[in-house]
Amino acid sequence: MEETERPEILQLTDIKFSYRSGDFHLNIPNLTVLTGEKVAVIGPSGSGKTTLLSLAAGILTPKKGNVTIDGQVINAKGDKSRRDYRISNIGFIFQDFGLIDYLDIRDNILHPYRITKALKLDAEVKDRARLLADQIGIGNKLRRHPADLSHGERQRVAICRALLHKPKLILADEATGNLDPDNKIHILDLLFQTVQEQKATILAVTHDQELLTHFDRVINFRDFLSGGQDEK
Ligand code: ADP
Ligand code: MG
Repeated sequence: MEETERPEILQLTDIKFSYRSGDFHLNIPNLTVLTGEKVAVIGPSGSGKTTLLSLAAGILTPKKGNVTIDGQVINAKGDKSRRDYRISNIGFIFQDFGLIDYLDIRDNILHPYRITKALKLDAEVKDRARLLADQIGIGNKLRRHPADLSHGERQRVAICRALLHKPKLILADEATGNLDPDNKIHILDLLFQTVQEQKATILAVTHDQELLTHFDRVINFRDFLSGGQDEK
């Protein structure tokens, strides 16, 4: 039997966030993402798109308000528990990839499994890593190091790593930003295919106007910028 699915996978309510330094303030009265949705996030540079994904992943915690993932209030958890939750349940594709230079590509992809007990690295996972790497077109680069790959290839490694543990929530920070048009669509298809097969959900920051029609919905970040007249 399957678990009953919650209609919403991610909910941000009454969020107020600012960094320790600087004068950036983010207000999000309410943002809800439904299970299975493919949501694009757009907005000008510096408007807080990466900050939003970091809040949704529990990397950052809000000053006020709650981030709820699959019924669990993430910001109420302690640092370690938040990190374990993130590594096991969320697939985060970082804007700067976050690859580890001294590990080869295979070990980069498997890395999340080595840093938390919540994920178990077994033969099945290793097979899946290889398959995923093949699908995404880096299967013959597994013994290389990040420095020996192109920008686009590094990006694919980051995507592989983010998908391997079958996360229910995929947070992608301009995951197709540096790919050529054909690859862009290919990668997006792969992401969407994963979303469908794994009953996952994707929240993706993109600058790519032409990709927006592929998503179910677009959130414009401008709506959350404080300093606006309608939000305190
Ligand atoms: P975007 O992804 O939309 O380009 P970000 O979320 O990265 O925007 O950043 C939003 C704002 O917060 C920017 O003004 C940025 O300079 C600022 N910012 C980002 N990270 C930090 C930090 N660690 N400390 C202080 N300010 C930050
Ligand atoms: Mg950003």
